Amino acid sequence: MSDAPFRILPEVTPANEHFWRGGAHDELRFLRCRPCREWIHPPSPVCPRCLAKDVAPEAVSGRARVLTFTVNHQLWIPGFPPPYVIAIVELPEQVGLRLTTNLVGIAPEDVRIDMDVRVVFEQHGDVYLPLFAPVTSP
Ligand SMILES: [Zn+2]
Repeated sequence: MSDAPFRILPEVTPANEHFWRGGAHDELRFLRCRPCREWIHPPSPVCPRCLAKDVAPEAVSGRARVLTFTVNHQLWIPGFPPPYVIAIVELPEQVGLRLTTNLVGIAPEDVRIDMDVRVVFEQHGDVYLPLFAPVTSP
């Protein structure tokens, strides 16, 4: 049993399970093109940069910064009470490598653009949702 809040969970497929289950290894994983080293998200069997089909999951550092965010005050999802922070974070590994996520471990009024965050996984069975929390130490 988990004390994680109710979530609408993704459909895990062979094409995306590296992403949704990487948290089992405490790793945030994206597909990466082996020839040109481009990170690929959302998952695609073909590299959008060089069109190679030689792509495989790799772990990123888990660090990110808040690119933009909004605070939701509306009860859209029963069992998932507001307020909560919906953010777009960008990973330092590659310009444009971004995730839409929730920020946790911080009061909504304390969130700032450009703040440093790191991934934390919220487990729901064998799905690990990548959420982000403030980096506490410099
Ligand atoms: Zn490539």
